[in-house]
Amino acid sequence: MSLISVEEALQRVTGGITPTEEEVVPLARSRGRVLAHDLAAQRDQPPFPASAMDGYAVRAGEARQGARLKLVGTSRAGERFRGSLGAGETVRIFTGAPVPEGADTVLIQENAERDGDMVIVREAPAPGRHIRPAGLDFSRGQTLLAAGTRLGPREMALAAAMNHGTLAVRRRPRVAVLSTGDELVVPGETPGPDQIVSSNGAAVTALAEAAGAEAVDLGIAVDSEDAIADAAARAGDADILVVIGGASVGDHDLVQPALAKKGMQVDFWKIAMRPGKPLMFGVLGPTKVLGLPGNPVSALICGIVFLRPLIAAFLGLEIRDRFVSMALAEDIPANNERQEFMRGRSVETPEGPRIQPAERQDSSLLATFARSDVLILRPAHAPAAKAGEVVPVTLLKDVLG
Ligand code: AMP
Ligand code: MG
Repeated sequence: MSLISVEEALQRVTGGITPTEEEVVPLARSRGRVLAHDLAAQRDQPPFPASAMDGYAVRAGEARQGARLKLVGTSRAGERFRGSLGAGETVRIFTGAPVPEGADTVLIQENAERDGDMVIVREAPAPGRHIRPAGLDFSRGQTLLAAGTRLGPREMALAAAMNHGTLAVRRRPRVAVLSTGDELVVPGETPGPDQIVSSNGAAVTALAEAAGAEAVDLGIAVDSEDAIADAAARAGDADILVVIGGASVGDHDLVQPALAKKGMQVDFWKIAMRPGKPLMFGVLGPTKVLGLPGNPVSALICGIVFLRPLIAAFLGLEIRDRFVSMALAEDIPANNERQEFMRGRSVETPEGPRIQPAERQDSSLLATFARSDVLILRPAHAPAAKAGEVVPVTLLKDVLG
Protein backbone atom coordinates (compact mmCIF):
# COMPACT_ATOMS: atom_id res chain seq x y z
CA MET A 1 0.00 0.00 0.00
CA SER A 2 1.43 3.39 -0.94
CA LEU A 3 1.53 6.29 1.49
CA ILE A 4 -1.50 8.54 1.30
CA SER A 5 -1.29 12.25 2.04
CA VAL A 6 -2.33 13.74 5.38
CA GLU A 7 -5.03 15.71 3.58
CA GLU A 8 -6.52 12.64 1.95
CA ALA A 9 -6.28 10.64 5.17
CA LEU A 10 -8.09 13.42 7.02
CA GLN A 11 -10.85 13.44 4.44
CA ARG A 12 -11.29 9.71 4.71
CA VAL A 13 -11.32 9.83 8.51
CA THR A 14 -13.84 12.66 8.84
CA GLY A 15 -15.99 12.03 5.74
CA GLY A 16 -19.57 10.79 5.98
CA ILE A 17 -19.93 11.05 9.76
CA THR A 18 -23.44 11.52 11.13
CA PRO A 19 -23.34 13.96 14.04
CA THR A 20 -24.47 12.61 17.40
CA GLU A 21 -28.03 13.15 18.57
CA GLU A 22 -28.87 16.11 20.78
CA GLU A 23 -29.49 16.13 24.52
CA VAL A 24 -30.52 18.80 27.00
CA VAL A 25 -28.09 19.80 29.76
CA PRO A 26 -28.28 22.40 32.53
CA LEU A 27 -26.47 25.59 31.56
CA ALA A 28 -24.14 25.16 34.54
CA ARG A 29 -22.96 21.80 33.14
CA SER A 30 -22.53 22.96 29.56
CA ARG A 31 -18.84 23.92 29.48
CA GLY A 32 -17.14 22.35 26.47
CA ARG A 33 -20.42 21.21 24.94
CA VAL A 34 -21.52 22.10 21.41
CA LEU A 35 -24.84 23.83 20.73
CA ALA A 36 -27.23 21.77 18.64
CA HIS A 37 -29.28 24.81 17.55
CA ASP A 38 -28.99 28.53 17.10
CA LEU A 39 -29.73 30.28 20.39
CA ALA A 40 -31.88 33.42 20.49
CA ALA A 41 -32.22 35.90 23.34
CA GLN A 42 -35.39 35.51 25.41
CA ARG A 43 -35.17 39.09 26.66
CA ASP A 44 -33.60 42.50 26.16
CA GLN A 45 -30.35 43.18 27.96
CA PRO A 46 -30.40 45.38 29.88
CA PRO A 47 -34.18 45.06 30.16
CA PHE A 48 -34.55 48.74 31.21
CA PRO A 49 -32.37 51.85 30.95
CA ALA A 50 -29.83 51.22 33.69
CA SER A 51 -27.31 53.36 35.50
CA ALA A 52 -23.67 52.47 34.90
CA MET A 53 -22.50 54.39 37.98
CA ASP A 54 -23.40 55.31 41.53
CA GLY A 55 -24.75 58.88 41.64
CA TYR A 56 -27.93 60.84 41.09
CA ALA A 57 -30.48 60.53 38.30
CA VAL A 58 -31.15 64.03 36.98
CA ARG A 59 -32.46 65.98 34.00
CA ALA A 60 -29.53 67.24 31.95
CA GLY A 61 -31.37 70.50 31.23
CA GLU A 62 -31.48 71.34 34.94
CA ALA A 63 -28.28 69.84 36.25
CA ARG A 64 -26.03 72.82 35.52
CA GLN A 65 -23.03 73.53 37.67
CA GLY A 66 -24.13 74.92 41.06
CA ALA A 67 -27.79 73.81 40.64
CA ARG A 68 -29.56 72.53 43.77
CA LEU A 69 -31.91 69.56 43.28
CA LYS A 70 -34.28 68.00 45.76
CA LEU A 71 -33.63 64.37 46.64
CA VAL A 72 -36.95 62.52 46.37
CA GLY A 73 -36.00 58.84 46.55
CA THR A 74 -33.66 55.99 45.70
CA SER A 75 -33.30 53.51 42.82
CA ARG A 76 -31.14 50.52 43.59
CA ALA A 77 -30.34 47.35 41.65
CA GLY A 78 -33.31 45.08 42.18
CA GLU A 79 -35.67 47.83 43.40
CA ARG A 80 -36.49 50.80 41.26
CA PHE A 81 -37.74 54.25 42.33
CA ARG A 82 -41.49 54.20 41.85
CA GLY A 83 -42.62 57.38 40.25
CA SER A 84 -41.08 59.83 37.86
CA LEU A 85 -38.69 62.67 38.32
CA GLY A 86 -40.37 66.08 38.58
CA ALA A 87 -38.84 69.49 37.87
CA GLY A 88 -35.99 70.33 40.25
CA GLU A 89 -35.84 66.79 41.61
CA THR A 90 -33.22 64.06 41.72
CA VAL A 91 -33.13 60.38 42.73
CA ARG A 92 -30.19 58.62 44.38
CA ILE A 93 -29.19 55.84 41.98
CA PHE A 94 -26.78 52.91 42.07
CA THR A 95 -25.02 50.85 39.42
CA GLY A 96 -27.43 48.54 37.60
CA ALA A 97 -30.54 50.29 38.91
CA PRO A 98 -33.36 51.38 36.56
CA VAL A 99 -33.13 55.06 35.60
CA PRO A 100 -36.41 56.71 36.70
CA GLU A 101 -38.74 58.17 34.13
CA GLY A 102 -38.02 61.82 33.55
CA ALA A 103 -34.28 61.50 34.18
CA ASP A 104 -31.97 61.53 31.18
CA THR A 105 -28.49 61.49 32.69
CA VAL A 106 -26.59 60.43 35.80
CA LEU A 107 -24.60 62.85 37.90
CA ILE A 108 -21.83 60.69 39.36
CA GLN A 109 -21.46 60.98 43.12
CA GLU A 110 -17.92 62.34 42.80
CA ASN A 111 -19.40 65.40 41.05
CA ALA A 112 -22.17 66.00 43.57
CA GLU A 113 -22.38 67.37 47.08
CA ARG A 114 -25.07 66.58 49.63
CA ASP A 115 -26.70 69.25 51.76
CA GLY A 116 -29.42 67.48 53.79
CA ASP A 117 -32.03 66.43 51.26
CA MET A 118 -30.58 68.71 48.61
CA VAL A 119 -27.98 67.71 46.04
CA ILE A 120 -25.65 70.36 44.61
CA VAL A 121 -24.23 69.81 41.13
CA ARG A 122 -20.45 70.33 41.09
CA GLU A 123 -19.88 69.35 37.47
CA ALA A 124 -22.75 69.20 34.99
CA PRO A 125 -23.18 65.80 33.27
CA ALA A 126 -23.75 65.61 29.52
CA PRO A 127 -27.15 64.23 28.44
CA GLY A 128 -27.28 60.42 28.44
CA ARG A 129 -24.07 60.03 30.48
CA HIS A 130 -23.71 56.79 32.41
CA ILE A 131 -27.02 55.40 31.18
CA ARG A 132 -27.11 52.05 29.42
CA PRO A 133 -30.19 52.14 27.20
CA ALA A 134 -32.51 49.10 27.23
CA GLY A 135 -31.22 46.51 24.76
CA LEU A 136 -27.72 48.02 24.61
CA ASP A 137 -26.14 44.57 24.78
CA PHE A 138 -28.81 42.64 22.87
CA SER A 139 -32.52 42.49 22.13
CA ARG A 140 -35.08 39.74 22.52
CA GLY A 141 -35.19 37.44 19.49
CA GLN A 142 -31.64 38.16 18.38
CA THR A 143 -29.62 35.01 17.56
CA LEU A 144 -26.36 35.45 19.42
CA LEU A 145 -24.91 31.93 19.52
CA ALA A 146 -24.97 29.77 16.40
CA ALA A 147 -25.47 26.00 16.21
CA GLY A 148 -22.04 24.41 16.42
CA THR A 149 -20.70 26.88 18.97
CA ARG A 150 -18.46 25.26 21.58
CA LEU A 151 -19.43 26.65 24.97
CA GLY A 152 -16.77 28.24 27.13
CA PRO A 153 -17.20 30.65 30.04
CA ARG A 154 -18.00 33.62 27.76
CA GLU A 155 -20.64 31.76 25.78
CA MET A 156 -22.14 30.39 29.01
CA ALA A 157 -22.38 33.93 30.42
CA LEU A 158 -24.13 35.10 27.28
CA ALA A 159 -26.54 32.12 27.21
CA ALA A 160 -27.33 32.76 30.88
CA ALA A 161 -27.98 36.47 30.25
CA MET A 162 -30.27 35.42 27.38
CA ASN A 163 -32.15 33.46 30.09
CA HIS A 164 -31.51 29.90 28.98
CA GLY A 165 -31.41 27.62 32.02
CA THR A 166 -30.88 24.51 29.90
CA LEU A 167 -29.28 24.04 26.50
CA ALA A 168 -29.70 21.53 23.68
CA VAL A 169 -26.23 20.23 22.86
CA ARG A 170 -24.75 17.36 20.86
CA ARG A 171 -24.15 14.16 22.79
CA ARG A 172 -20.45 13.82 23.51
CA PRO A 173 -19.01 11.21 21.16
CA ARG A 174 -17.90 8.11 23.10
CA VAL A 175 -14.22 7.34 22.66
CA ALA A 176 -12.48 4.24 24.01
CA VAL A 177 -8.68 4.19 24.15
CA LEU A 178 -6.73 0.92 24.18
CA SER A 179 -2.95 0.70 24.56
CA THR A 180 -1.18 -2.41 23.28
CA GLY A 181 2.22 -3.89 23.99
CA ASP A 182 3.88 -6.59 26.12
CA GLU A 183 6.36 -3.97 27.29
CA LEU A 184 3.81 -1.71 28.97
CA VAL A 185 2.72 -1.25 32.56
CA VAL A 186 0.30 1.35 33.86
CA PRO A 187 1.81 4.47 35.45
CA GLY A 188 2.76 3.92 39.08
CA GLU A 189 3.36 0.18 38.71
CA THR A 190 6.82 -1.36 38.92
CA PRO A 191 7.96 -2.28 35.40
CA GLY A 192 9.83 -5.52 34.77
CA PRO A 193 13.42 -5.30 33.49
CA ASP A 194 12.35 -4.98 29.85
CA GLN A 195 9.25 -2.92 30.42
CA ILE A 196 8.33 0.76 30.17
CA VAL A 197 5.48 2.81 31.54
CA SER A 198 2.50 3.41 29.27
CA SER A 199 2.19 7.13 28.72
CA ASN A 200 -0.23 7.11 25.82
CA GLY A 201 -3.44 5.84 27.37
CA ALA A 202 -3.95 8.69 29.81
CA ALA A 203 -2.65 11.29 27.36
CA VAL A 204 -4.81 10.31 24.40
CA THR A 205 -7.84 9.93 26.67
CA ALA A 206 -7.24 13.47 27.94
CA LEU A 207 -6.80 14.76 24.41
CA ALA A 208 -10.14 13.21 23.43
CA GLU A 209 -11.86 14.79 26.43
CA ALA A 210 -10.35 18.17 25.64
CA ALA A 211 -11.75 17.79 22.11
CA GLY A 212 -15.26 17.30 23.51
CA ALA A 213 -15.54 13.52 23.80
CA GLU A 214 -16.55 11.28 26.67
CA ALA A 215 -13.46 9.12 26.78
CA VAL A 216 -12.51 5.97 28.67
CA ASP A 217 -9.08 4.44 28.96
CA LEU A 218 -9.45 0.68 28.42
CA GLY A 219 -5.93 0.07 29.73
CA ILE A 220 -3.32 -2.20 28.19
CA ALA A 221 -3.69 -5.33 26.05
CA VAL A 222 -0.67 -7.59 25.62
CA ASP A 223 0.57 -8.40 22.14
CA SER A 224 -1.81 -11.21 21.30
CA GLU A 225 -4.70 -11.17 18.87
CA ASP A 226 -7.07 -12.56 21.47
CA ALA A 227 -6.06 -10.04 24.12
CA ILE A 228 -6.51 -7.16 21.68
CA ALA A 229 -9.84 -8.47 20.40
CA ASP A 230 -11.16 -9.04 23.93
CA ALA A 231 -10.07 -5.63 25.15
CA ALA A 232 -11.46 -3.92 22.05
CA ALA A 233 -14.82 -5.59 22.71
CA ARG A 234 -14.97 -3.55 25.91
CA ALA A 235 -15.33 -0.45 23.74
CA GLY A 236 -18.99 -1.52 23.45
CA ASP A 237 -20.98 0.98 21.46
CA ALA A 238 -18.22 3.60 21.32
CA ASP A 239 -18.33 5.95 18.38
CA ILE A 240 -14.55 5.81 18.15
CA LEU A 241 -12.09 3.12 19.22
CA VAL A 242 -8.51 4.34 19.42
CA VAL A 243 -5.92 1.57 19.50
CA ILE A 244 -2.38 2.68 20.24
CA GLY A 245 0.68 0.76 19.08
CA GLY A 246 0.91 -2.32 16.91
CA ALA A 247 -0.82 -0.58 14.03
CA SER A 248 1.79 -1.39 11.43
CA VAL A 249 2.35 -4.83 9.90
CA GLY A 250 5.41 -6.12 11.79
CA ASP A 251 5.39 -9.54 13.51
CA HIS A 252 4.21 -7.90 16.72
CA ASP A 253 1.72 -5.59 15.08
CA LEU A 254 -1.44 -7.49 15.75
CA VAL A 255 -4.09 -4.80 15.79
CA GLN A 256 -5.13 -5.24 12.17
CA PRO A 257 -5.44 -9.04 12.22
CA ALA A 258 -7.11 -9.02 15.65
CA LEU A 259 -9.75 -6.52 14.64
CA ALA A 260 -10.12 -7.90 11.11
CA LYS A 261 -11.32 -11.14 12.70
CA LYS A 262 -14.00 -9.09 14.45
CA GLY A 263 -15.07 -7.66 11.11
CA MET A 264 -13.09 -4.44 10.85
CA GLN A 265 -12.79 -3.05 7.36
CA VAL A 266 -9.45 -1.30 6.98
CA ASP A 267 -9.48 1.90 5.00
CA PHE A 268 -5.75 2.74 5.16
CA TRP A 269 -2.80 2.11 7.43
CA LYS A 270 0.09 4.16 6.13
CA ILE A 271 0.29 7.88 5.64
CA ALA A 272 2.91 10.32 4.41
CA MET A 273 3.45 11.99 7.75
CA ARG A 274 6.25 12.42 10.26
CA PRO A 275 5.88 11.56 13.03
CA GLY A 276 3.24 8.92 12.47
CA LYS A 277 3.64 6.84 9.33
CA PRO A 278 1.82 3.79 10.71
CA LEU A 279 -1.60 5.37 11.16
CA MET A 280 -4.53 3.04 10.62
CA PHE A 281 -8.15 3.84 9.99
CA GLY A 282 -11.00 1.37 9.71
CA VAL A 283 -14.63 0.74 10.49
CA LEU A 284 -15.91 -1.94 12.87
CA GLY A 285 -19.71 -2.04 12.84
CA PRO A 286 -20.88 1.38 14.05
CA THR A 287 -17.43 2.23 15.42
CA LYS A 288 -14.65 4.12 13.69
CA VAL A 289 -11.28 2.63 14.54
CA LEU A 290 -8.21 4.82 14.63
CA GLY A 291 -4.88 3.06 15.09
CA LEU A 292 -2.22 5.43 16.38
CA PRO A 293 1.51 4.77 16.36
CA GLY A 294 2.94 3.75 19.72
CA ASN A 295 5.71 6.29 20.05
CA PRO A 296 4.29 8.77 22.52
CA VAL A 297 4.92 11.96 20.57
CA SER A 298 3.58 10.33 17.39
CA ALA A 299 0.48 9.16 19.23
CA LEU A 300 -0.31 12.65 20.48
CA ILE A 301 0.48 14.44 17.23
CA CYS A 302 -1.64 11.94 15.28
CA GLY A 303 -4.30 12.52 17.94
CA ILE A 304 -4.14 16.25 17.25
CA VAL A 305 -4.18 15.82 13.48
CA PHE A 306 -6.80 13.04 13.16
CA LEU A 307 -8.62 12.26 16.42
CA ARG A 308 -9.63 15.84 17.17
CA PRO A 309 -11.17 16.41 13.72
CA LEU A 310 -12.91 13.02 13.94
CA ILE A 311 -14.45 13.96 17.31
CA ALA A 312 -15.36 17.34 15.83
CA ALA A 313 -17.14 15.63 12.94
CA PHE A 314 -19.25 13.66 15.44
CA LEU A 315 -20.09 16.98 17.10
CA GLY A 316 -21.24 18.38 13.76
CA LEU A 317 -18.27 20.71 13.51
CA GLU A 318 -15.67 21.07 10.91
CA ILE A 319 -12.35 21.53 12.63
CA ARG A 320 -9.53 22.78 10.60
CA ASP A 321 -6.70 23.48 12.93
CA ARG A 322 -5.71 27.07 12.70
CA PHE A 323 -2.20 27.80 11.68
CA VAL A 324 -0.55 31.05 12.64
CA SER A 325 2.47 32.49 10.87
CA MET A 326 5.66 32.79 12.86
CA ALA A 327 9.27 33.48 11.92
CA LEU A 328 11.96 30.84 12.43
CA ALA A 329 14.83 31.42 14.85
CA GLU A 330 17.12 29.21 12.77
CA ASP A 331 17.41 27.50 9.38
CA ILE A 332 15.56 24.23 8.77
CA PRO A 333 16.30 21.76 5.99
CA ALA A 334 14.16 20.85 2.97
CA ASN A 335 11.49 18.24 3.64
CA ASN A 336 10.97 14.91 1.89
CA GLU A 337 7.66 13.38 0.78
CA ARG A 338 6.26 13.07 4.31
CA GLN A 339 4.45 16.05 5.75
CA GLU A 340 6.19 16.88 9.00
CA PHE A 341 5.04 18.36 12.28
CA MET A 342 8.20 19.61 13.99
CA ARG A 343 8.25 20.41 17.66
CA GLY A 344 9.32 23.96 18.42
CA ARG A 345 9.37 26.58 21.09
CA SER A 346 8.64 30.29 20.87
CA VAL A 347 11.52 32.45 22.03
CA GLU A 348 11.93 36.20 22.42
CA THR A 349 14.71 37.69 20.30
CA PRO A 350 15.77 41.29 19.66
CA GLU A 351 13.87 40.96 16.34
CA GLY A 352 10.67 39.87 18.11
CA PRO A 353 9.16 36.43 18.79
CA ARG A 354 10.74 33.55 16.84
CA ILE A 355 10.23 29.79 16.69
CA GLN A 356 13.13 27.64 17.77
CA PRO A 357 12.81 24.10 16.34
CA ALA A 358 13.65 21.44 18.93
CA GLU A 359 17.14 20.11 18.42
CA ARG A 360 15.95 16.49 18.46
CA GLN A 361 12.79 15.58 16.61
CA ASP A 362 12.74 11.91 17.65
CA SER A 363 9.13 10.85 18.20
CA SER A 364 9.82 9.21 21.55
CA LEU A 365 10.98 12.37 23.33
CA LEU A 366 8.25 13.43 25.71
CA ALA A 367 10.35 15.89 27.72
CA THR A 368 11.16 17.80 24.52
CA PHE A 369 7.50 17.71 23.55
CA ALA A 370 6.39 19.02 26.94
CA ARG A 371 8.81 21.95 26.57
CA SER A 372 7.49 22.74 23.08
CA ASP A 373 4.64 25.13 22.54
CA VAL A 374 4.16 24.86 18.78
CA LEU A 375 4.12 22.36 15.95
CA ILE A 376 5.82 23.69 12.85
CA LEU A 377 4.02 22.46 9.74
CA ARG A 378 6.40 21.33 7.01
CA PRO A 379 4.43 20.34 3.90
CA ALA A 380 5.70 17.46 1.80
CA HIS A 381 8.66 18.57 -0.32
CA ALA A 382 8.83 21.98 1.39
CA PRO A 383 12.10 23.68 0.43
CA ALA A 384 14.66 24.59 3.08
CA ALA A 385 13.68 27.64 5.13
CA LYS A 386 16.05 30.25 6.54
CA ALA A 387 16.06 31.93 9.93
CA GLY A 388 13.60 34.82 9.82
CA GLU A 389 11.38 33.10 7.26
CA VAL A 390 7.75 32.79 8.22
CA VAL A 391 6.27 29.30 8.58
CA PRO A 392 2.81 28.00 9.57
CA VAL A 393 2.61 26.74 13.15
CA THR A 394 -0.09 25.22 15.36
CA LEU A 395 -0.20 26.52 18.92
CA LEU A 396 -0.25 23.46 21.16
CA LYS A 397 -2.33 25.23 23.81
CA ASP A 398 -5.08 25.67 21.20
CA VAL A 399 -5.25 21.97 20.37
CA LEU A 400 -4.45 20.33 23.68
CA GLY A 401 -6.15 22.77 26.08
P1 AMP B 1 4.51 0.12 18.27
O1 AMP B 1 3.74 1.10 17.46
O2 AMP B 1 3.64 -0.81 19.04
O3 AMP B 1 5.53 -0.59 17.44
O4 AMP B 1 5.32 0.98 19.33
C1 AMP B 1 6.30 1.89 18.93
C2 AMP B 1 7.06 2.38 20.14
O5 AMP B 1 6.18 3.06 21.01
C3 AMP B 1 7.70 1.28 20.96
O6 AMP B 1 8.93 1.76 21.44
C4 AMP B 1 6.74 1.10 22.10
O7 AMP B 1 7.37 0.61 23.27
C5 AMP B 1 6.26 2.50 22.32
N1 AMP B 1 4.90 2.49 22.88
C6 AMP B 1 3.85 1.80 22.42
N2 AMP B 1 2.77 2.02 23.16
C7 AMP B 1 3.14 2.88 24.14
C8 AMP B 1 2.46 3.48 25.24
N3 AMP B 1 1.16 3.26 25.48
N4 AMP B 1 3.15 4.33 26.03
C9 AMP B 1 4.47 4.56 25.79
N5 AMP B 1 5.16 4.04 24.77
C10 AMP B 1 4.51 3.19 23.95
MG1 MG C 1 3.85 -2.51 20.15
